[in-house]
Amino acid sequence: MSSEIDVVPAITTRREDAETGLRSLISKGLGWARKYSLFQYPFVTACCGMEYMTVASARYDLDRFGAALPRFSPRQADLLMVVGTVNCKQAPILRRIYEQMADPKWVIAFGVCASSGGFYDNYATVQGIDRIVPVDVYIPGCPPRPEQVLDGIILLQKKIQDQSHKLIDRKPLPTFGPEYGGER
Ligand code: SF4
Repeated sequence: MSSEIDVVPAITTRREDAETGLRSLISKGLGWARKYSLFQYPFVTACCGMEYMTVASARYDLDRFGAALPRFSPRQADLLMVVGTVNCKQAPILRRIYEQMADPKWVIAFGVCASSGGFYDNYATVQGIDRIVPVDVYIPGCPPRPEQVLDGIILLQKKIQDQSHKLIDRKPLPTFGPEYGGER
């Protein structure tokens, strides 16, 4: 009797170990694949757009990082690049685009206006896009240098690799207030 009791936990533990190992292997493989196949959706609203175009040029060659191909449909993108100032009227549009993107998805705030509203400290400007969508990487600067943008991409890739990935992966959406088009 005592031998049966001893055996059951040992088998359970080995099976759990095997499942954990398999899950970890799948997570690492998916992380590796996802970090080198970013499909970005550029939400470009203001002067940071010039720097955005420079990063994609031959001199800086964003393609080296597997992140160069912009998709102009959010349904085909998993990286939202918010480039420039976002005003309150645009907030529901930004939110809608984020919701339409494929899961799992990541967001970069490109420049100080997207990160914090920048020097537009007024009622018409969103004081940071993290009030609308969850942000993974903030790139400072007005505008940021292309090297800073590349640093931001590398940082995001490290973050993606370290995240836990599942075959089906959905994050809950954050709530946001009525001033940005959310529910009252
Ligand atoms: S951060 Fe500077 S360059 Fe970029 S959108 Fe704002 S004001 Fe323009």
